[in-house]
Amino acid sequence: MNVLVVGGAGYIGSHCVRQAAAAGHVVAVLDDLSYGHAESVPAGVKLYRADMGDQAAVRAALRETRAEVVIDFAAFTNVGESVQRPERYHENNVVRTEGLLQSMLAEGVKKLVFSSTCATYGVPERMPMTEDLPQQPINPYGATKLAVERRLRELAGSHGLSFAAFRYFNAAGASPDGAIGEDHSPETHLIPLAIAAALGRRPPLKVFGTDYPTPDGTCLRDYVHVDDLSRAHLDVLPKLAQPGQALFYNLGTGAPYSVKEVIASVARILGRPVPHELAERREGDPPALYADAAKVRRELGWVPRYDTLDSIVLTACHWHLARPKGFAS
Ligand code: UDP
Repeated sequence: MNVLVVGGAGYIGSHCVRQAAAAGHVVAVLDDLSYGHAESVPAGVKLYRADMGDQAAVRAALRETRAEVVIDFAAFTNVGESVQRPERYHENNVVRTEGLLQSMLAEGVKKLVFSSTCATYGVPERMPMTEDLPQQPINPYGATKLAVERRLRELAGSHGLSFAAFRYFNAAGASPDGAIGEDHSPETHLIPLAIAAALGRRPPLKVFGTDYPTPDGTCLRDYVHVDDLSRAHLDVLPKLAQPGQALFYNLGTGAPYSVKEVIASVARILGRPVPHELAERREGDPPALYADAAKVRRELGWVPRYDTLDSIVLTACHWHLARPKGFAS
């Protein structure tokens, strides 16, 4: 298919772009490079540098690429920052995404794969989490993604938009060939910060909260390899052939790991300790989030190839060792 990947120069998007091209799709990227890296876009893939809310630019890109489907990764994703600056998250994740949707409808592009998040559930009633749990986000980031999910459902009914929204758990790891990986500025995610602390590139890791109602007192998360995550976006495309499809899938491996277990994994793989200190809870963090991924396994035949935390952390360590300054290395 002709695929326009919005946010395709970002962490997850860039992995999806490479997979889509390898699978024979004709791929182009639209990214404003506010967080993305032009270096992560492979040679031969056209990069449109534009804001997804810029309807003239987006419509031109959709026309020029004869896009049949949009895969949208473009969003601000930092939970902590969303609590401090909610208006920034609303403006980007809701208002500009609406601009993207309007551009798609105006150009007759009615297939979309959308990056949503397990943060739309808030503090879930049950664990592991199924797709039918109530969605009550406890931070603005989750609220913005839920707002778009609801909007997509409306457009499926009113305009025949066919979409799949993937509710990601914790994306982690890097491409196994070491070509691309996680390079956020500022970095806020646990695995890269733990690796950087172990390598002496950053101060000791702060463990946010050790009094959670979990076995070791630290938060439980479901870490899923970025290539496994990306692959699902391509696996779902045949399901969007029928107009008006509204599909929601949790995307995680289903295995919970605590912050302390992540620290132990990084230490094991690098063969050196992760200096860390205990700190206050971070606002907006639910104690435990892990997926019941039965639906995506059943309906898409999706099986994570990286099925242990160590296998994911290993690829992240390779990337950070090879590229100490990320794409600027
Ligand atoms: N975390 C931590 N110290 C850090 C960064 C994260 O203890 O410096 C914890 C955080 O509280 C959460 C888990 O690690 O329980 C994963 O956080 P991350 O920011 O990687 O992803 P999120 O779950 O927020 O999407």
